[in-house]
Amino acid sequence: MSDDCIFCKIIRGEIPSSKIYEDKDFFAFLDIRPINKGHSLIIPKVHCKGILDFPRAEETDFLEVIKKVAGAVVKAVDADGFNLGMNTGAAAGQIVFHAHMHIIPRFEGDGLKSWPHKELSREEMDETHKRILSALK
Ligand code: 5GP
Ligand code: ZN
Repeated sequence: MSDDCIFCKIIRGEIPSSKIYEDKDFFAFLDIRPINKGHSLIIPKVHCKGILDFPRAEETDFLEVIKKVAGAVVKAVDADGFNLGMNTGAAAGQIVFHAHMHIIPRFEGDGLKSWPHKELSREEMDETHKRILSALK
């Protein structure tokens, strides 16, 4: 737990939230500024910044909770699909630095656009490919 983290405060009940799920390791609640109806956040109770420092022992259970909550959200709002997302780092749009998985229900014709694609040259693609392979060694 971190004293000044808003999601830790939500877990402790110091900030109110529309809680939808809780167990000994995880907590889920409605996003206060939803992208679509039912937009929810699932967080580990242990404070970590994101997926890269997420406790290994909880990874499998996290996925199970995501599946359970996402299924319920989709049913509750009668969604046609959903996006999962973890913004990681300020450059990626992360504003709360306590790991959280967004569940964003999607509806046919809801008007949300996916990210635009970029054209990279063959050289840039090959260089990036090489660098990632080397970083994975
Ligand atoms: P991020 O951009 O860090 O991936 O997303 C953080 C999310 O947390 C945002 O969608 C934002 O609306 C939500 N959020 C921030 N503060 C609060 C809060 O106090 N209560 C709730 N329910 N959601 C919050
Ligand atoms: Zn926290």
